[in-house]
Amino acid sequence: MRKHIFNAGPCKLSDPCLENTAKAILELNNSGQSILEVSHRSKDFEPIINEAMALFKEVLNIPDNYHVLFLGGGASLQFAMIPFNFLKTKAAYVDTGTWANKAIKEAKLFGKVEVIANSEDKNHTYYPKGFKIPADVDYLHITSNNTIRGTEIFEDLDSPVPLIADMSSDIMSRPVDVSKYAMIYGGAQKNLGPAGVTFVILRDDMLQKVVADRPIPSMLRYDVHIKDGSMYNTPPCVNIFALNETLKWVKASGGIKAMDRLANERADMLYAEIDRNSLFRAPVEKGSRSRMNIPFVWADGTEDLTEKFMELAKSRKIVGIKGHRSVGGFRASTYNACTIDDVKALVTCMQDFEKQIKG
Ligand SMILES: *Cc1c(COP(=O)(O)O)cnc(C)c1O
Repeated sequence: MRKHIFNAGPCKLSDPCLENTAKAILELNNSGQSILEVSHRSKDFEPIINEAMALFKEVLNIPDNYHVLFLGGGASLQFAMIPFNFLKTKAAYVDTGTWANKAIKEAKLFGKVEVIANSEDKNHTYYPKGFKIPADVDYLHITSNNTIRGTEIFEDLDSPVPLIADMSSDIMSRPVDVSKYAMIYGGAQKNLGPAGVTFVILRDDMLQKVVADRPIPSMLRYDVHIKDGSMYNTPPCVNIFALNETLKWVKASGGIKAMDRLANERADMLYAEIDRNSLFRAPVEKGSRSRMNIPFVWADGTEDLTEKFMELAKSRKIVGIKGHRSVGGFRASTYNACTIDDVKALVTCMQDFEKQIKG
């Protein structure tokens, strides 16, 4: 029996994605070959990557002047690739926790970094709002959903400078006005597929902004990857196959609007229980609460119940709710493939545990 999977990443994937990927690993479309064996430059694979790029644009409603790339190296390589390509003198960053910090650290290798907003004063339990964006920076970088702390921004900012967003953990969970961004990127393993492929959505005019007098290795240049249609080197074929299956599933399930509605349903249900249950509390402020990563901690005086609660959860086939080591407590990641039934199982588990403890 399949478990109730709340892993933060790699995450739960849809049944059709798993079934079709499993089939393609044995044999891809009567080709007599596995998806693991076909040439990436063959008529067997090219339609798959082309479909994935087209579906990505269709499902997320990406305007024509944007490129979609599937690269290696994870979102973490993008932390370095972005400033390598685009940071001439100074860039602005919003510091919303661990992942933003890692992006800032890499940017500092290439130029000045101005942290224009920071939620560190309250342990990153809120998303900074209303910050002023300077006009004299090469770009502004934000992390739209903070996977570890569980904060999220639901607004597409108006920015006077190119806006770049790490959407690793909230991509495809809500309609996004892509035209407000110069670039959106992320690791696929939070909402789109297995680990091993990174998506990049890049506005065409950014290619003119690549730092001209800096030697940049070919593999780290966006223009090189665009010119070769994400085939400058061998792309992660099976990961792209699985990502395409996820996109097909999103489209067949009602597209982004349906994902958005379900994200609200799941999150509302779980936050309502956290707020109601006398044993738990949500560390994140209302208005900043992520719909994708939902941390909850013990209410005061009940901190020693962790082992007992984890045991009950295990007996209910609930996995992946242990909090990140830097936050403690619990975190349920409720990405697109997480079902209402999964959330109901967790809510019931929390309710039953409260009865067990409080009688
Ligand atoms: C997981 C995650 C990353 C790192 O992704 P990798 O693919 O492991 O490099 C970066 N940013 C956010 C917001 C994440 O959730």
